[in-house]
Amino acid sequence: MIGKGTMGKEIVIYEKNKEGLDFLKDFFKNRDDYAAIFIKDEKSLLKELNKKKASALIAGSSSGLEKIKPAETGCPVIAMVAGDITNGIRSVMKQGIEIYLISPFHKEDFEHKLRIAVEKKGWIENIYRDKKDLETIVELTYLVSSTLDPKEVLYFVVKKIAELIDVTRCSMISIPCEEKRHAYVVSSFEDPKTTGIKLDLKKYPEIRKALSTRSSVFIEDALKDPLLKEVRPVIAPLGIRSIVVIPVIFRNEVIGTLFLRTSRAGHTFTEREIRLCTAIANAATNALYNAFLYEKLETEKTKLEKFAITDYLTGIYNIRYFYHRLEGEFSRSQRYKAPLSCIMFDIDHFKKINDAYGHRIGDMVLREFAQFVKKHTRKSDVFARYGGEEFIMLLAQTSEKGALAEAERLRYVIKEHRFKSLKNKKAITASIGVVSYPHKKIKTQDDLITFADNALFTAKNSGRDQIRVWG
Ligand code: GH3
Ligand code: MG
Ligand code: MG
Repeated sequence: MIGKGTMGKEIVIYEKNKEGLDFLKDFFKNRDDYAAIFIKDEKSLLKELNKKKASALIAGSSSGLEKIKPAETGCPVIAMVAGDITNGIRSVMKQGIEIYLISPFHKEDFEHKLRIAVEKKGWIENIYRDKKDLETIVELTYLVSSTLDPKEVLYFVVKKIAELIDVTRCSMISIPCEEKRHAYVVSSFEDPKTTGIKLDLKKYPEIRKALSTRSSVFIEDALKDPLLKEVRPVIAPLGIRSIVVIPVIFRNEVIGTLFLRTSRAGHTFTEREIRLCTAIANAATNALYNAFLYEKLETEKTKLEKFAITDYLTGIYNIRYFYHRLEGEFSRSQRYKAPLSCIMFDIDHFKKINDAYGHRIGDMVLREFAQFVKKHTRKSDVFARYGGEEFIMLLAQTSEKGALAEAERLRYVIKEHRFKSLKNKKAITASIGVVSYPHKKIKTQDDLITFADNALFTAKNSGRDQIRVWG
């Protein structure tokens, strides 16, 4: 695994004493394992330390050491004591600085103490990072048990991972149990809204391997790993360098994976990163499973809702839904004095169709009729099966003139249509009754239906394939 880089460790030097300064300048000359930064004033010093890049600070005991609070910067300090040795040591002790050198400075001694300081910095960083990792897992565990929305948890997972480790892409993928050929991105750090993107697992041998082995797959170099041989032409241009796939296992089933990738310029994953992600993936298991159930429930709910308002034979709205919409539209029209029209259809001589072709074909004609009219109707109009071979349509914001024109257009297209369900693609006709609100005799929403029926009755008596407007 590749480390942080080959540049020397940054050492900040704040020394005013000439003797100490000469020694340090000489020491750091031509050293490429260290990069020394000489600082002259306190302001620049604090600025440099706040960058948190320095591996150690070397400061003279006479340079105003009291003002540098080493514990707060998290940077190990080496104090150089020269001149007034007694006072120098006293000041060093008071500050709690553990590493110091007394003039005359010995190169080997300094070398050794500098190494200790730099190592100390490494430990501090490790402890700090481990603490952050642990905090994330604790936070996640809490979130998983307290958040109802699994999507939120999953987004937290990918966001945290992206924060804690240097990844280019990080997503949580769900793999439905019934179907192991596709996977779905449930959460992605790149875009909080990304969800439901379908992945063809044929193109992801690394995910397939995690699925079949039920253990993590780690690809150090995507351009060389034999596992990715067949997909290399696709992934090579994406600039992916290293990949980690961590399976999320629930009740012995791989229900998803955590999918991490770094770019070619970036680093490969370290053991600590893989360990952390595995812990996070385990903590997220329940959330992923819930996300699954939730989605399933949502689709079932939508299906059920649709089922409840649909006429089983024709696939258009049922009368129950029509009444529900009529109620709303009628009171809206009353309140805003907006026009509202209702059209009732009855297929002419439908009995003859049943008699000639049988009830089953009759059913198919009814479905075809309903779907055909629906196709020729505006989205805002509510078209429903009233019962038998009768249909009803509600036209909001439509006056008598508009409704009549609509009825006329529909009567024409119905007559012109050749029914696939009938031999010789025979045509059928419909009689139509139209009624429009406002009208002084229309007091309730039921009046609208009754009067449309009356108009339809007149149309039938006038010879069928006709339109009559009530009133
Ligand atoms: P009219 O022109 O007077 O409307 O003649 P019609 O034959 O269409 O009218 P009538 O009311 O006499 O008969 C309606 C027929 O529609 C009788 C009934 O068997 C048939 N029908 C009603 N519902 C269904 C259904 O769901 N499927 C089938 N196949 N036929 C139905
Ligand atoms: Mg009828
Ligand atoms: Mg009829």
